[in-house]
Amino acid sequence: MTAPMFERVALIGFGLIGSSLAHVLRRDQSARVIVACARTQATLDTVKRLGLADEFTLDPAVAARGADLVVIAAPHSAYREIAARIESVLAPGAILTDVGSVKGAAVRDLQPHVPPGVHLIPGHPVAGTEYSGPEAGFAEMFAGRWCILTPVPGTDAAALDRITRLWLSAGMKVEVMSADHHDMVLAMTSHLPHLIAYTIVGTATDLGESLKSEIIKFSAGGFRDFTRIASSDPVMWRDVFLSNREAVLEILQRFTEDLTALQRAIRWGEGATLEDRFARTRAIRRSIIEANQA
Ligand code: NAP
Repeated sequence: MTAPMFERVALIGFGLIGSSLAHVLRRDQSARVIVACARTQATLDTVKRLGLADEFTLDPAVAARGADLVVIAAPHSAYREIAARIESVLAPGAILTDVGSVKGAAVRDLQPHVPPGVHLIPGHPVAGTEYSGPEAGFAEMFAGRWCILTPVPGTDAAALDRITRLWLSAGMKVEVMSADHHDMVLAMTSHLPHLIAYTIVGTATDLGESLKSEIIKFSAGGFRDFTRIASSDPVMWRDVFLSNREAVLEILQRFTEDLTALQRAIRWGEGATLEDRFARTRAIRRSIIEANQA
């Protein structure tokens, strides 16, 4: 039997992403011991019932002590507190990574707490669903999706290779880029679409009662897809917008200008402008299908 990839993996935060990773580690027997850490005992009890971990604690320091891999899979607003608590127990040679949706803020909040000899390799598996909590996780969630790693300059090549192999084992394709570049790309592909969905569904929610029931009845006309995105976890998305503020505001500015241009075209009956824009965007959809990311 081959040795597991990791001896002791501490998963700090055990929701959708943490539990999905635990499913992968269990399936492939990639960790000798999995330690679950969450904020509430109720979550730990659920993880125990699901058989996804071997040890359970509410204290991040107890989880991280002696671990060769520590994965932070909690909302961004918890990063600083978690990093400060695990700082003194991180063992030399250990890898500290995360799965957060914003990478500049992850480096900013984690790096000051990383002792010498510990490898910080921030990561973002770009996969998920609109559900939360440990019962929502499943191993196949990562399959065929991209995982973006944003190592800081001077990162140990062997440590980067170990994290790469972990996400490859989950069926992901791995790409390395800078944290700033990641945040700009994701502001466009993920953060802006969520903001638009939250806005559209919010606007509908504020309409009068009679219109509201019609909206639910006829939701298949496009609205339904927005409601799925807008049902994503409120805490996670609050943190995403607060921690990727600059990139989101920049993309939002461009979006607002484009929206105003379309508004103007509708007002002045400029059909060619509308048709030209809609034809160009259709081509993007085709490329996404061809890239197997539909
Ligand atoms: P989730 O299902 O809401 O789970 C969050 C987990 O973090 C819970 O187990 C929670 O514990 C725990 N937690 C919160 N504060 C903590 C603290 N101070 N110390 C220890 N644990 C703490 O969230 P998720 O969807 O897995 O998201 C986790 C991370 O993955 C976020 O940073 C998010 O940006 C990123 N991400 C999410 C998606 C997605 O589609 N959801 C995709 C890619 C990346 P309790 O249950 O006890 O409260």
